[in-house]
Amino acid sequence: MSTLSKRAAALFLMLAFGLTSVVVPASGEIVSGEPHPSGGFYWEKEGFRYVQVIGGPNDIGYQHGSMLADLITRSISAYAHATERSYGIDWRQTTTLAMNYWIYVPQEQRDEIDGIARGASENGARDPQGDPVDRWDILALNAIWDIWWRTDMPGNPWWWLPFNTNLPNYEPRTPHHCSAFVATGNATADGGFVLGQSLWMPYFLSPAHAVFIDIVPDTGNRIFMEVTAGMIWSGTEYYTNSAGLVIAETTLGTGPYRWFGTPSFVRLRKAAQYADSIDSFTEIMLESTNGAYCGDYLLADAKTNEVAILELGAYEYELKRTTNGFLPSCNYPWDPEVAEEMGATQGWDHGCYPRWVRLQQLRDRDYGNITVFHGMEYLGDHYDTVENRINPCSHTLCGHVENASGYPHGSMDAKVTNRSMALRMEIWARFGHSCGQPFLVDVHAREHPEYAFDDLVDIIPRPYASFSPFSRMEVLAVDEEGEPVPDAVLNITSNIDGYSFELVVGPGGSAVFEMIPRSEYTITGTKGDMTGRVVWDQKEDSTAVVVMSSTPGSFSLGSSTVLIGVLILVFGIIAAAMFLALRHRRTK
Ligand SMILES: [Zn+2]
Repeated sequence: MSTLSKRAAALFLMLAFGLTSVVVPASGEIVSGEPHPSGGFYWEKEGFRYVQVIGGPNDIGYQHGSMLADLITRSISAYAHATERSYGIDWRQTTTLAMNYWIYVPQEQRDEIDGIARGASENGARDPQGDPVDRWDILALNAIWDIWWRTDMPGNPWWWLPFNTNLPNYEPRTPHHCSAFVATGNATADGGFVLGQSLWMPYFLSPAHAVFIDIVPDTGNRIFMEVTAGMIWSGTEYYTNSAGLVIAETTLGTGPYRWFGTPSFVRLRKAAQYADSIDSFTEIMLESTNGAYCGDYLLADAKTNEVAILELGAYEYELKRTTNGFLPSCNYPWDPEVAEEMGATQGWDHGCYPRWVRLQQLRDRDYGNITVFHGMEYLGDHYDTVENRINPCSHTLCGHVENASGYPHGSMDAKVTNRSMALRMEIWARFGHSCGQPFLVDVHAREHPEYAFDDLVDIIPRPYASFSPFSRMEVLAVDEEGEPVPDAVLNITSNIDGYSFELVVGPGGSAVFEMIPRSEYTITGTKGDMTGRVVWDQKEDSTAVVVMSSTPGSFSLGSSTVLIGVLILVFGIIAAAMFLALRHRRTK
């Protein structure tokens, strides 16, 4: 047994409190999962780190920093690389610029940033100079987009990283960032909303962005989001909160900067933690904006099934909302006033327009039938509407900028959810290119030696899996009289992604998962000739009951068939006897 397996076994023993049996993961890859000494909970699943942090702002930050210290080193070095390359400022200058934002950061966010710095530095996280990370490193990481906006020339549409004018393959007029859509009502198969988004970033960020964090704060909503390690906001632009709000984003190019506004990262985190509706999200984002991180904010409210896109510029904005429809988003400013403010063109002159066209083709093809599985297909789509052929590149919903300019940039993940999953704060996610194709460093270096950066790593996509907040599940196994059935073996399988666990019931007839991701589960109990089954929607901490009964008394399909055969034979003999008796009487 490897050390890891022993740790996993010990963990599950600990989690199955009060039990005498080990909980065995029955399928799927579970590398480890354990309460972390920092007070958080740590797991890994299908290429993602998967953590829970709980408590006051400093506790939340400390647990985050402690569990993700190695990835925080990577986040900072990746953003330092991008900032130096595209804006010509090094990390020390970046942190100096970031200090200007501290006065705009509310106390609870300051405490969380300090907690992240403390946990990360205690666990070995280093800045690019090799010093332990501190408050200003974490602040600069969080404020990186605000810094880029401020550093860039206002109105400059040539802002996006891969297209820095100093690079040999500079491609103006084609900023590319993320692909997304949200559909609801008569657009979807079941009428509930479906929302999908894939993150496009330079590949040297991988795997620092591949983290799901379940934040259980003392105040406001619980937040479940994909996060770039070290950020108090998502940075990958996917959030869901306990008020039923799902938030995703695709970024527009830069526009005017408002010097005395509140940084975008502060407003985004505040909105995720305190907004409970499309209206309150919009209000928080519009309040004292600094104009940075202009974007399409896709919103879905699981309580009302209404969806929206807030297209947010610096001064201009437009809120499009509906309970029946399909809203595409792909870094393309669809509102003429926002586009004008940003100095962006509309139509085919805009580099992101080909994806806008493709999303509308897919909408027209599937309207009325859209499910999460269509969402997965859209995010992995390679149809290029410029050349009208399959051609994975910067024009396609699954981004492969490496095939266009050679710059290692494109889709790094895919996330899809629907209304019923969002009510549990659950999503489907895939690590790596949305289509499943790998990015291999040596192949890329041979084809594009000018972009063979030292910090690139292979990105091998993983299958889609479901992610959601952790909760406590107790399962009671009882017989038909309600008496406990100790030692029953429970199989608990997610109906979403098929991950399953086995658990043996203790002497009191109860088994407990202290930490299990929320999902819809089928729980099957077996002991000797007794079986029972229940479908359980784990939306929060709960107790499921499996009623078990003996099988021999009931008819199986085989025995019923034999019985029916015998009955037909008996009736046949009686009928034949009556027929013969009648005939005999007539012939008399
Ligand atoms: Zn692809």
